[in-house]
Amino acid sequence: MSRVKGSIVFTDLDGTLLDHDDYSFSAAAGALEALKREGVPIVPVTSKTKAELLSLRDAIGLETPFVVENGAGIYIPKGYFLFNDDSLIDAGSYWCKRFAPPRSELTELVMSAPEVLRMSMRTFSEMTILELSELTGLTEAQAELAAAREFSEPIEWTGEDSDASELKDYARQHGYDLIKGGRFFHLTNGYDKGQALYWLKQQYSRANPNQAQFAIALGDSANDIDMLEAADQAIIIKNPHSKTIELAPGIPVIRSAQAGPSGWAESLSSFLNLDLP
Ligand SMILES: [Mg+2]
Repeated sequence: MSRVKGSIVFTDLDGTLLDHDDYSFSAAAGALEALKREGVPIVPVTSKTKAELLSLRDAIGLETPFVVENGAGIYIPKGYFLFNDDSLIDAGSYWCKRFAPPRSELTELVMSAPEVLRMSMRTFSEMTILELSELTGLTEAQAELAAAREFSEPIEWTGEDSDASELKDYARQHGYDLIKGGRFFHLTNGYDKGQALYWLKQQYSRANPNQAQFAIALGDSANDIDMLEAADQAIIIKNPHSKTIELAPGIPVIRSAQAGPSGWAESLSSFLNLDLP
């Protein structure tokens, strides 16, 4: 059990803790219980919005901080850390740490892209709730929560994947980067899931000065690479729907044999030697 103490689990959701197709986490329920019993914080790090995450967080039974919109923002329940930080914004029952520019700045950048690029893309703001629901398989109620973005403007790319590099060049000319999540592309101005992990790990260290913190990150797609590389232990969850991701040399990495929540449970139980119920 020595690895458990000081461990923090940072986890992607879609295709990692949640099944790619039906968004269920039931295959990981036993491992989640075991981690909670051991007092290991489980921090969701996702491209989802706060609105989407709140009910899911309740369903999983988490009371920890959470990272939304690919690292653009972090929400910390008030009273979770017993210190304050001037950079935090008051957001009701949470403190919010913001890394992203206003969404309007991103929308404007996309709208002013060259016509040849605009023809192959559609942003969330350009879709109706019904279109978004059809595209993602979410119900209309869920799609409405997904559309309630505070920090980012996901893009559906309808052209060839190779041509998305021209969109990436356009983004870079304007000081942004383009990264691919499970289904959508995302513009960022330098923030990523890795920066969010690093910042939160520092807060955990500050809260527990006598206990070394050990960050374990789990993810399945390209937008998880920064987080996986920022962790002390990376766990890559098998994703049969997309190509295998590679990390920089020297990063300690485990690759799960199974996909989604089954792979999540399998890798964490074995790495942390958890007693599953
Ligand atoms: Mg994923």
